[in-house]
Amino acid sequence: PLPVVAIIGRPNVGKSTLFNRLVGKRLALVDDRPGVTRDRREGEARLFDLTFTIMDTAGFEDEDPHTLPGRMRAQTEAAVRDADAALFLVDARAGITPLDEEIGRWLRGEDTPVIVAANKAEGRGGEAGRLEAFALGLGEPIALSAEHGEGLADLFESLRPYV
Ligand code: GDP
Ligand code: MG
Repeated sequence: PLPVVAIIGRPNVGKSTLFNRLVGKRLALVDDRPGVTRDRREGEARLFDLTFTIMDTAGFEDEDPHTLPGRMRAQTEAAVRDADAALFLVDARAGITPLDEEIGRWLRGEDTPVIVAANKAEGRGGEAGRLEAFALGLGEPIALSAEHGEGLADLFESLRPYV
């Protein structure tokens, strides 16, 4: 089986955009049982000569397992625990938010290796946000633009030890 990378991050940071860029048309399997695998998509990713399974997770807002957001968070946590690496996306333009800090705290307590990527950093626009993401305590953030395809060489170098 292929190594697995799980993308984690708060809503709107660009997780699905990155997923789509890495998977292209090779979207593999989608289990669409309602409420069970909602938004937990996986596909075969290509990044230069790396091939791995990428998971697009959704939801980290609610810890109550009896709500839909709570079940989504539980799925996100399970996906990260099962993954060979977690790719933690933050929005370089928006900066670090309380929810980013909460996700970072949770990730620091897990064993899965984490790569922090400051997305929306096209054209050097995200350097301040990238530096801010050092405070998450999860290593040196890379600058990325999922939408414009920038920073993919750094992403490759960061993922290579784990996939
Ligand atoms: P998700 O909620 O984390 O899955 O985020 P999406 O992939 O749906 O993206 C949220 C919004 O951010 C969309 O409007 C995207 O077009 C935009 N977006 C994603 N990646 C980038 C990027 O690299 N640069 C910019 N400027 N916008 C981006
Ligand atoms: Mg999404």
